[in-house]
Amino acid sequence: MDLFDVAVIGAGPAGSMAAKYSAKSGARTILLEEHAGAGWPVQCAGLLGQEAMAESEISSRSIVLQAMRGATVFSPGCRRLDFKAKAAKAWVVDRRLFDQAMLAQAVAKGAELRIRSNVRKIRRERGYSILTLAGGREIKSKIVISAEGVSARIARQAGISRSQMILSGAQVQVPFAVEDPEKVEVHLGVAPGLFGWVIPLDEGSSRIGLCARDRGCERLRSFLKTDIIKKRLRGSPVALNVGGLPLGPAAVTAVDGLLAVGDAAGQVKPTSGGGIYPGLVAAKIAGGVAAAAAIESECTALRLMEYDRLWRAALGRELEIGMRANRMLSRMSDAELDELVGYLAAKPRLIKAIEEHGDIDRPSLLMARMMRHLDWDAIRLARLLGYALR
Ligand SMILES: Cc1cc2nc3c(=O)[nH]c(=O)nc-3n(C[C@H](O)[C@H](O)[C@H](O)COP(=O)(O)OP(=O)(O)OC[C@H]3O[C@@H](n4cnc5c(N)ncnc54)[C@H](O)[C@@H]3O)c2cc1C
Repeated sequence: MDLFDVAVIGAGPAGSMAAKYSAKSGARTILLEEHAGAGWPVQCAGLLGQEAMAESEISSRSIVLQAMRGATVFSPGCRRLDFKAKAAKAWVVDRRLFDQAMLAQAVAKGAELRIRSNVRKIRRERGYSILTLAGGREIKSKIVISAEGVSARIARQAGISRSQMILSGAQVQVPFAVEDPEKVEVHLGVAPGLFGWVIPLDEGSSRIGLCARDRGCERLRSFLKTDIIKKRLRGSPVALNVGGLPLGPAAVTAVDGLLAVGDAAGQVKPTSGGGIYPGLVAAKIAGGVAAAAAIESECTALRLMEYDRLWRAALGRELEIGMRANRMLSRMSDAELDELVGYLAAKPRLIKAIEEHGDIDRPSLLMARMMRHLDWDAIRLARLLGYALR
């Protein structure tokens, strides 16, 4: 049986980054991926903010399809809030190329890759984790990092708890009359739990999708039939992506001999559904902690909780504020969303603040700035706080 210090399950962005940092820290690291390569099937809109791009450590811009400078937020009654910054704030990437570039970095740092290696079971034996692959082959390691994505079967077997909720996501790529190729559209009220989006790829095509508490595909079909979308469709969808999106991190992300990162740990921004940025931040911490603990041969939950503490210190507050904002928006009626968007759109200083300080990776910083420009009346404020705190 092969013996490693650290075995990483899943070559998505979080797994490749964790393997890279584990190998870089001197641990003998193996990366196990069930598919024949990274980046397939795509379950993502591919929108990455500045911080996510920087955290990926990918220098080549060949993965970028389109730069984004702003957004239009539509309320259910079609009130709109428009903003556009002077420079790009986010990029639409080819997720397949992105994942492949991340994987290449992990391998270049010394992680050993095994493709077509579907991990079926985990057991702990005398201080080691034994992973059983489909076909019966076994891999022995001191520590396992589960970066399996939302399914997280091995993480659950090892005792990692579930994220607070799993949204149902669906998206099509479709010929579309784009209003502004540098602006994302956010459609509130079409998908309870998050929102619908239109992400331009160029002037004539877009990714149109949503994540909702349930029935993602059914809700997407209805979204595509709304007036605001239907009149701009210019042909049939050329691709469909569906997938689950975890929100609200797992209560515990480290147990004896195993850490969970990325979607497997529920590390997704609840304001936008973006999982790549928090997954990468946590994966770097996981790779470093796992390598150090494996080299010390100290693989208990107590030792590995260092990872849990460090990633929560880096991201916990942002995710917590994001959950509150998500709850607040999810509980508002269509009329209240119309009122909110109309109110914000009438505040030029606030729009300027969004254009200058908008950051999809750290939305809480913008939220704090926005508060300065709001002259909320007491009733409106009490209502919003009530939604957030309930
Ligand atoms: C519709 C939709 C749109 C999204 N849009 C965005 C977006 O625009 N921006 C953004 O930041 N996020 C977006 N997300 C979220 C983002 O896709 C995820 O957060 C991100 O992919 C999580 O990365 P990960 O590495 O944790 O898991 P994944 O990317 O899911 O990778 C997991 C890997 O593990 C492998 N694997 C799983 N189980 C096993 C096993 N047992 N053995 C071996 N290998 C295994 C899988 O094959 C896969 O390669 C979107 C999600 C959805 C559903």
